[in-house]
Amino acid sequence: MSISCHPDVVVIGGGILGCSIASYLSQQPGLAVTVIERGGLAEQTTSQAAGLLTRIRPSSGLTALATETFEAIDRLEQGSGVPLPLQRAGSLQVAASASGQCQLETLALRAAEFGRDTEWFDNSEAEKLAPWLALEAGTRALFLPDDGYIDPYALCMAYAREARRNGVRFQLYHEVTSLIGSESRVTGVRLSTGDTVQAGLVIDAAGPWSTALAHQQGINLAMAPIRSHYWISAPHSRIATGGPITILPDSGAYARPEVGGLLFGLRDNRAVYARPDALPNNLHGYRFDVDPTGGEALEEGYPSFHRQCPVIEELSLAHYISSVSSYTPDSAPLVGAMPGVDGFVAATGCSGAGIGLSGGIGRLVSDLVTGKPPFVSPNDFRLDRFGPVDSFDATFIKRCAEARARKRSG
Ligand SMILES: Cc1cc2nc3c(=O)[nH]c(=O)nc-3n(C[C@H](O)[C@H](O)[C@H](O)COP(=O)(O)OP(=O)(O)OC[C@H]3O[C@@H](n4cnc5c(N)ncnc54)[C@H](O)[C@@H]3O)c2cc1C
Repeated sequence: MSISCHPDVVVIGGGILGCSIASYLSQQPGLAVTVIERGGLAEQTTSQAAGLLTRIRPSSGLTALATETFEAIDRLEQGSGVPLPLQRAGSLQVAASASGQCQLETLALRAAEFGRDTEWFDNSEAEKLAPWLALEAGTRALFLPDDGYIDPYALCMAYAREARRNGVRFQLYHEVTSLIGSESRVTGVRLSTGDTVQAGLVIDAAGPWSTALAHQQGINLAMAPIRSHYWISAPHSRIATGGPITILPDSGAYARPEVGGLLFGLRDNRAVYARPDALPNNLHGYRFDVDPTGGEALEEGYPSFHRQCPVIEELSLAHYISSVSSYTPDSAPLVGAMPGVDGFVAATGCSGAGIGLSGGIGRLVSDLVTGKPPFVSPNDFRLDRFGPVDSFDATFIKRCAEARARKRSG
């Protein structure tokens, strides 16, 4: 059986990317868009995110995507008249090592290029702003006042609300089991109910499950499911509510206030990953095979994090959040046409930054789909930029895990 109302575009996935894409496409007159999500909106990786929104990223293209997310937040607030829970607390990036300081200087230059304010703080100014830090002599601290953090669920739902208001149809609790069409053209999707939905274009925004869907068409997406994790402490008097995000490249860590406690994340130095076809449909409670409780990562990262953030020894840990991030070898997302297959587009591989990049990815996909000149060059995000890869090969997956271990930004 075929579902009667044929949309022009089917978006697979109701996470932040699917909803952002839907909200941008919904602004195009005359385009019929349906989002198909097998659970509820924002239930999977989106709701697990730490919600850091930094504007200045390791490349100009990524910075343009992140900047668009802030524009989207303003637009969504104006459109609904309801403020979103964006904490405009800024980010404070601190480094004592030569490589960390070099990263800060590059960041300050890129911020200037994008017309964003930055301020260099001395240690006492930095510690006043973020009283959980204790900085050794020779540390440099760069403050970016325009950064912030947000509840990712609230942002995702705001995109979805806008899309729905503009006529996008959401089919929740419907699973896409296969793509329909030919080897070289996708013409719709088949659902677990047996129904089919014909569409001019299908967008794979299925988060970590995008790889398995694309593989049905013989496409190997250049991304892998890698662990991201963070801890949240019980409230503590030195964690100032309203304090900034702190990014600590020397210890591969970030921290921000969360309901009176400290939320902090540590990069995994070792590769903790899964096979893309081994993920359950529901990631809540999912644990990786290696170091499932995060205890080893915490022990390994503790000494250098403790040097910059000694208050950690006084904190009692209340929560541990561990889930999947879809990393590419260069930590930039995969956005654009699926190579060799018409009618099929990907928006995935966000490398731990899908909340921050959501507005930009939504706008870029909308530009590509409607044939508008893209607001940012799509070349950095093309799917074929790594040459042929095997998404299921252990060596390739480790290459993606190394990209995560190298990441030193927020
Ligand atoms: C611990 C952690 C911390 C993070 N912190 C940050 C942060 O501070 N800042 C930041 O920017 N990013 C952060 N991220 C990354 C961010 O969470 C992701 O990049 C983002 O949520 C990806 O969104 P998505 O829409 O691609 O995926 P998802 O939110 O996972 O959505 C994909 C959706 O597709 C649906 N789906 C899959 N297959 C099918 C199918 N066959 N049929 C129908 N539906 C299907 C799924 O049910 C799911 O709802 C973090 C990630 C983790 C794990």
